[in-house]
Amino acid sequence: MQLAKVHFDRPEIDRTKLREILLDSIPEGIIRWNSNLRTIDQERSLHFAHGIEKDFDLVVGADGGWSKIRDILTPVKPFHSGIGGVDIKINDIDTKHPELSKRVGRGSVSSKRFIQGCATII
Ligand SMILES: Cc1cc2nc3c(=O)[nH]c(=O)nc-3n(C[C@H](O)[C@H](O)[C@H](O)COP(=O)(O)OP(=O)(O)OC[C@H]3O[C@@H](n4cnc5c(N)ncnc54)[C@H](O)[C@@H]3O)c2cc1C
Repeated sequence: MQLAKVHFDRPEIDRTKLREILLDSIPEGIIRWNSNLRTIDQERSLHFAHGIEKDFDLVVGADGGWSKIRDILTPVKPFHSGIGGVDIKINDIDTKHPELSKRVGRGSVSSKRFIQGCATII
């Protein structure tokens, strides 16, 4: 019991709240919303949907997995590695699904499916 309590007491912050705190710390007008980047060229000019902006000393690409900035760093496109994951949370498992609760115990269950009909459940 004590172990489960420690596990769920780990410090976390609501993402929306964190976003608010971070945004509130930045002076107004610094962030320009709705600026859709289409591409960047070798001179670090940024081609937005609304026009081209240039003369930057440094460009930091933080535009996610399909980053447009990434294109000038590598020709390699993101690809699926073939590994996927499913995360399932069952609330009140001791009461609602006692058999499952007993099976999982206080540890964790992990399963992996390999090719040729083989699966591992740990
Ligand atoms: C369901 C889910 C749960 C997750 N849970 C966790 C977790 O618990 N812990 C953890 O560490 N990670 C988690 N992740 C992963 C984490 O969210 C990502 O690794 C992280 O958000 C990547 O950050 P990023 O800044 O690279 O990209 P993103 O967070 O994707 O941010 C990219 C930003 O760029 C903007 N953008 C994209 N293209 C353009 C463009 N052309 N022009 C202008 N703007 C653009 C997007 O609108 C977005 O705001 C989770 C991901 C998912 C999907």
